Amino acid sequence: MIEGLNDTELELSDLEPTKFVGFDTLESDATVVMLLDRDGNKIDELKDDLGFVIFDTTPFFALGGGQESDNGCVVKKDNSKLPIVDLRKDIVDGIYIHEVNAENNVLNIGDKVHLLVNDTKREQASQNHSALHITWSTLHTMLNEDLPEVGSKLNDEKYQIQFEPDWRVTEQFVMDVVNKMNADVFTKDIKTKIYEISEQEAKDKNYLLDFTKVDKGENVRMVEFPGVGLEPCSGTHITSTNEITKVYYLNYDRNKKRVSLDLTTNYAFAKNYFDEKIIAKVREIETLEGKIKNLKPDYIKTPNLADFEKEENWNYLSVQKLNQVFNDVTKTLNTLAKEEQKRLAKEFEAFDFNEETISNNNKTVTLMSFNDERITDKIVVSSAMKMSRDYQTNLFAIYNEALKNLIIVSNDKALDLKSIADNEDIYNKFDLKGGGSPKMLTLTLSDDNQKEVINSLLN
Ligand SMILES: [Zn+2]
Repeated sequence: MIEGLNDTELELSDLEPTKFVGFDTLESDATVVMLLDRDGNKIDELKDDLGFVIFDTTPFFALGGGQESDNGCVVKKDNSKLPIVDLRKDIVDGIYIHEVNAENNVLNIGDKVHLLVNDTKREQASQNHSALHITWSTLHTMLNEDLPEVGSKLNDEKYQIQFEPDWRVTEQFVMDVVNKMNADVFTKDIKTKIYEISEQEAKDKNYLLDFTKVDKGENVRMVEFPGVGLEPCSGTHITSTNEITKVYYLNYDRNKKRVSLDLTTNYAFAKNYFDEKIIAKVREIETLEGKIKNLKPDYIKTPNLADFEKEENWNYLSVQKLNQVFNDVTKTLNTLAKEEQKRLAKEFEAFDFNEETISNNNKTVTLMSFNDERITDKIVVSSAMKMSRDYQTNLFAIYNEALKNLIIVSNDKALDLKSIADNEDIYNKFDLKGGGSPKMLTLTLSDDNQKEVINSLLN
């Protein structure tokens, strides 16, 4: 919602309350009764800009009870459409303020229009909202008492419930709650009952939470899923529990003050979420295990890894289990890779190098060459200093043709290893070791021009 509505409260309070019809329908005819520009000033015409529109009637649900507002559009007589991007009714009670994008269009006071709610978004939000009620009820039924609620919120993608930590409500317990709902509630055709009772009756029956808001003199709207649970609510809901296929358990988060659960009824959202958390992770583990298998052919890969990808395993506990597998496999690979490095370092020191001497400017360089893609510059670096001691030349160099790695050790303070740094077109990687007057230079060359590089250091 764009800013700018804060000083308009007084003007709005003269208006008749907006007639909300959105519990029964997702579209309705309406008349424009007031227009405000993006700064909240009253205007007669909203043209080519974002602004705020108040209609006499609206099917749009405005933020409340933790549920996000609807979006949709205004359809004009000429069939042109203006997006309704946000909605508020908390500036003045009972007045619904629609944020409308009138780009390339215009709205005037008195215009007769048709309002259309984005039904996919509304349906998803209603499913999540109803599932949220049913989750609370099932949790309470399974615990045999009510948990102190900290808050809830939801939109079309997912819902979140928060309560004070309770040792019984473990990660596994939440899984049991979700399984119970999926088995006992969403497989059945339980018709939602919505009715009003007086505030007094709601109080007497202990239906109201501390933060339930009831307007003075208004009745309390009750939403009941017979046999499952009931609570006061002004949100939008499904008409039967069989509209929901299942609930997916996305996340469990616990700190000292609250437990926070993320869940969803939205298949597309769940699929996206678990594609990343499970399917991508399974691929990563397969890659790691492939590398392990190369180092240790008798390694036994994690059995039934592909089972994690099955939809029935799209849940928080599987994600946790898979992360554990990932950590274990990573550790195994790191240990094996370290052992392999040690073994290769030993092998490297016994190599039969191609040795040559380069002379230039009264200086000499020993150049040892080999070709082996297993020998990383890390291995060479760890041995280069020791190897250089056997040679009395000004520079000692080792070149690995397979990786284009050139390591140069200097025995001559007069030669400046840093001078290569400016020559950026000859290397892809440049690294100096040894502080103020560096002793060792590590290069990954862009071409096999190791001799030119060495000669340039001697000039
Ligand atoms: Zn509710």
